[in-house]
Amino acid sequence: MVKRRRPAKNKPSAGCAGVLCADSEGGYWEEPGLLGLGRTAQGMRLPRREELSPLPDGAQLHFLPGRSPVVRSADDAEEMVAEGCLTMAAQLPSGWTLTFMPAWEKTSDAPDLPLFGYTAVYPIDGELYVAACQTEDNPRWRPQRYGRGDLAELIAKAKRRWPHNRLYEHLKKCACEYGCYNAQNIFYGRWEGAAPTSPQCNAGCQGCISYQPEGHQPSPQVRLKFVPSAEEIAEVGIRHLEAPQAIYSFGQGCEGEPLLQADTIAAAIKMIRAKTPAGAIHMNTNGSRPEAARQVIDAGLDSLRVSMISVREELYNAYYRPRGYRMRDVWETVRYARQRGLWVSINWLCLPGVNDSQAETEAMLDFVREYDVSMIQLRNLNMDPDLLLPNLPIPSGPVLGVPEMLRVFRAKAPGVRLGNHNPYKPRQI
Ligand code: SF4
Repeated sequence: MVKRRRPAKNKPSAGCAGVLCADSEGGYWEEPGLLGLGRTAQGMRLPRREELSPLPDGAQLHFLPGRSPVVRSADDAEEMVAEGCLTMAAQLPSGWTLTFMPAWEKTSDAPDLPLFGYTAVYPIDGELYVAACQTEDNPRWRPQRYGRGDLAELIAKAKRRWPHNRLYEHLKKCACEYGCYNAQNIFYGRWEGAAPTSPQCNAGCQGCISYQPEGHQPSPQVRLKFVPSAEEIAEVGIRHLEAPQAIYSFGQGCEGEPLLQADTIAAAIKMIRAKTPAGAIHMNTNGSRPEAARQVIDAGLDSLRVSMISVREELYNAYYRPRGYRMRDVWETVRYARQRGLWVSINWLCLPGVNDSQAETEAMLDFVREYDVSMIQLRNLNMDPDLLLPNLPIPSGPVLGVPEMLRVFRAKAPGVRLGNHNPYKPRQI
């Protein structure tokens, strides 16, 4: 089963990450006498215990076709391939940040992987562990609170009551087909609810989940095809914000860039605020159009989350492939939002070996301190690393590892919250 270049001499010691192998029937087992490796953008290495956590509730295990685990001998002297076995990976529930991708060697006919997350998984002393750290424990995002049996009836009720509003029809698809939590919350009448508005985008993110060009891995969601009217947006929002601590949130996975619809969104915000001061109105954005951001902020936006992979332009451009804007425009959006007292999060796209490199950690640390950022939200970059990594300028120099990177932020920027989700933050001025 395992192709060895030299025989391993020792047994792995207790507490070491072992090797999990799978077959294409869904069976999996521990391959004895070997050490499990993890992969980062900068290569493969043995994980440290602090980089692993017991398999969390809600994690899903998969085998990866055409990929055999790369492993180490028990004495850590040799690297080998467990030929004939398939690599296992976990998809993490929200609130967990991955520390390693699985280490694999591909066969020549291995298919590209779809746009999901791939986290290394190991057996340790008879239990399963994932290469991940918990970075937020938020009961509002527990998977068991979604997809409830009453969802279909709640959707039918909303559609009966507002048959003319196209947003409800679109959100029905997101809630049922994509399992989108924010879309479901619109029907449950609670917490963060989705307000998609934009069919277009001015970036070309490699891992965009709502649009991929012909010949690429298909996007898991189909992008919104129309711009809802300000009245449609306001109608959904006014009702949603009736719930305690509700957030009405522009910029969702099923759409493009909401700042391209700033006129409509600003008009909708004004309509909502003419009816109710309740709740928080939020936008997830690439931050590319500071003038448009100013318009929606001045209309009454409460909080903003700006997506970035890096504050270093070469890496940012390689991933976002911006059209008609520069990194300094994104920074200007952050600056104005903080100046106006908004809660501003950075949605930091995370890939082990990139963000947790010393160079990227220090660059982001300088940025959040200079721009007085309120929060960093860590977002695992969900993409086949063999498709993504060749197109990114990978930082050179030391890699801290994710737990150490988190420690650095906590020590050097103690006022910046770390987590994974938008908090309820009405405007503070
Ligand atoms: S900014 Fe958002 S919508 Fe635009 S390409 Fe990137 S991920 Fe897709």
